[in-house]
Amino acid sequence: MDPATVTAPTILIVGGVAGGASAATRARRMNEQARIVILEKDAYVSFANCGLPYYLGGEITDRERLLIAKPALFERRFRIEVRTRHEVVSIDRTARTISVQDLEAGRRYEEHYDKLILAPGASPLVPPIPGVDARGVFTLRTLDDADRIAAAMPSVRRAVVVGGGYVGLETAEQFHRRGLEVALVEMQSQVMPLLDPEMAEPLHRQLEYHGLRLELGRGIAAIDERDGAVAGIRLSDGTQLPADLVLLGVGVRPNITLAQDAGLVIGASGGIATDEVMRTSDPDIYAVGDAAEYAFGVTGARMRLPLAGPANRTGRLAGEHAATGASRPAPAAWGTSVMRCFGCSAGLSGLSLRSALAAGFEARAVHVVANHHASYYPGAQTLVVKLVYEVGSGRVLGVQAVGGAGVDKRLDVVATLLHFRGTIHDLAELDLAYAPPFGAAKDPLHMAAFVAQNDLDGLARVVQPDADLSPYQVVDVRDAREVRSLPIAGAPHAIHIPLNSLRDRLAELDPGQPTVVACRSGMRSYLGTRILAQHGFREVYNLSGAVAMRDFALNRRLPATLATATGLPAPDAIMID
Ligand code: FAD
Repeated sequence: MDPATVTAPTILIVGGVAGGASAATRARRMNEQARIVILEKDAYVSFANCGLPYYLGGEITDRERLLIAKPALFERRFRIEVRTRHEVVSIDRTARTISVQDLEAGRRYEEHYDKLILAPGASPLVPPIPGVDARGVFTLRTLDDADRIAAAMPSVRRAVVVGGGYVGLETAEQFHRRGLEVALVEMQSQVMPLLDPEMAEPLHRQLEYHGLRLELGRGIAAIDERDGAVAGIRLSDGTQLPADLVLLGVGVRPNITLAQDAGLVIGASGGIATDEVMRTSDPDIYAVGDAAEYAFGVTGARMRLPLAGPANRTGRLAGEHAATGASRPAPAAWGTSVMRCFGCSAGLSGLSLRSALAAGFEARAVHVVANHHASYYPGAQTLVVKLVYEVGSGRVLGVQAVGGAGVDKRLDVVATLLHFRGTIHDLAELDLAYAPPFGAAKDPLHMAAFVAQNDLDGLARVVQPDADLSPYQVVDVRDAREVRSLPIAGAPHAIHIPLNSLRDRLAELDPGQPTVVACRSGMRSYLGTRILAQHGFREVYNLSGAVAMRDFALNRRLPATLATATGLPAPDAIMID
């Protein structure tokens, strides 16, 4: 920037963690003259909320490491004034002042701004149920929350985690790691409700495999107390679970009161409405992070996506714009997220099939069950990728992945593709890095794109794992041993013909009937569909995700004999497109 044009605005920032800290430091890097003040109502700025579960479980042992940048660093390195325990209580947009409560000194004062950046985040939802104020009931958002939970843990034997989102799942894992007996309660019929049901099922299996009690499809109705402390919880169907500690992880609500009281526009999703450079309806006030709305890439709709990445990136942009009057526009967000629960990782970017259909897209999806790297290289782990795309254009609408390893890489590649509005054909063409310890020459993502291309080209169409198979002639091309251990769920009429015998036994099948071919991981069944199609069978489909995903979709558990540590089956070794 030309120093001659630099002005010296006063930039006040409400909230000093992900969005606020990014805004402040970027503002300084762009404008050496600006007066920049962070006002933070809690005791800490720039701490790692995402690390809190791992601190509770002892994976992160040094609490200090959660404090990414302390006030002294902001002040010395950036000349940014940090006022912790200072709560902003109102905004006077006409006078361009804010009113601040100094929570330590108990005094209130006014502060003038040229530009104001709101980064107040979100607060955990606390359901209004009896007993919610009992000792031993916690939420997890701040370092103080984590300290309180850590202090309580030595006397805790049984914990109930309410909510199967990533905070609930990560914390449940970490409580278990600390030797607690853990139950996880989720009101929906699956954890990670943004995933399609069959993609969440391996997580259920993980939790049960590790001895956690899983209560799905029922909400919490009350917390039972004894002498003011938690004694247990009651679910909506009357089930009682004993507990010494309850963690509520049932979602967050955006902190919008300050903005609302100042007359700023609140968007339809409930977050502070923002424009393409994160300005609110008042051009001198910006909003970023969990309290703000972003453009959601797939649909263009403005929505809230309470995730650290968008908070940091929008904070940075708003800081730059506030400091200089210009910035690049804020990019769309795609809701890319990933979490780990024991040996299983899962996540998504963009839309699931369920949400794509609900949003009105003519969407289809394919599953690929594959190894995360070359199967012959030791340590390969099963991974399932589900790719969602639009019929006609082939535009990729979303990706979900679940598995033991390599999940994050596949999500990130497709997140990149989504950013560039790519198609399944683009994905099929990507030149991805490969050596045996890292991936496959045809990566699971290439395979997913090939399967999607084959589906759209009509070469090998797919049916979804939860399809009603009763109207179809179902051909199971696995070996007899596999069929015995795991019959195709909901298809007692399946005809068993191992793939290698299929050409010789075509006479046993009716070429005029719509036919679904199934196997363990989708590869042999694909080969079977090609054989049948070329022998005059008019309508042939591959069962997407094969028998295992069908079982997951229909909510059956894999027999322990077939399960790997992730609950996913080993894929067929030979992957052919
Ligand atoms: P915050 O980081 O919450 O900061 C807001 C700050 O504003 C708070 O410190 C608050 O005290 C302060 N404040 C509020 N009102 C006022 C006021 N009136 N005056 C002064 N100060 C105020 N996201 C991911 O993408 N990946 C993860 O793995 C992940 N894990 C998470 C794990 C946990 C346990 C939690 C709680 C969150 C996790 N998140 C994760 C979400 C991520 O932390 C948030 O999306 C991100 O912190 C939002 O940034 P923010 O700046 O909007 O809000």
